[in-house]
Amino acid sequence: MRALDLSRLITAAADTIADHAEELTALDQAIGDGDHGLNMKRGFEALRSDANVFAAKPLPDALKAIGTKLVMTVGGASGPLFGTLFIALGKEISADPDNANLTAAFGKAIEAVAARGKSQVGQKTILDVLQPVRDALAGEKTAAEIADIADAAAKATVPMKALRGRASFLGDRSIGHMDAGARSTALLVRTLAQIIGDKA
Ligand code: ADP
Ligand code: MG
Repeated sequence: MRALDLSRLITAAADTIADHAEELTALDQAIGDGDHGLNMKRGFEALRSDANVFAAKPLPDALKAIGTKLVMTVGGASGPLFGTLFIALGKEISADPDNANLTAAFGKAIEAVAARGKSQVGQKTILDVLQPVRDALAGEKTAAEIADIADAAAKATVPMKALRGRASFLGDRSIGHMDAGARSTALLVRTLAQIIGDKA
């Protein structure tokens, strides 16, 4: 992977979240408390404001700072979880990662999210998109394939019963709706994959 314009990635991610905030809110309204769109928008607008600050740092430090900012600004259950993802990624990634380093770092970051959320794959959460994306990276899929895998993984949360987060309070009534966090994860994966794919 070549050096990336981190500022461009952050701006694109913030645009995507802003464009889909209402959709994310509607998903969270169905089986949660309806704040996921607003939570994510607040966090990613905060990243946008400081995009140049993050971009000036070496990649590991930038990812740790992004994660810390997300913990402080997103709120809800998802803030600490997305924050943990980026902080752990920053701890494991090298300054100029190749696919092997990225895959290993992403795997460790997912483990950190699972530990933080006391969650695992199959419980209708962000992990249900993150894990297939890690597996796709390990399988050296193209950026376009990874984006499609993330979308399919988010859709695959529809028939799942939520076992973590607010949606779990609904029990069987959580079945039949897409998990909001899984959807926002897939949106971010597609955005990042498009830009990184263009550069690869
Ligand atoms: P809150 O649930 O506090 O209102 P959000 O609405 O911002 O926070 O985020 C909800 C999303 O967070 C869920 O859709 C789910 O994907 C994710 N989530 C919640 N709890 C967990 C957990 N324990 N592990 C992994 N992801 C989780
Ligand atoms: Mg919510």
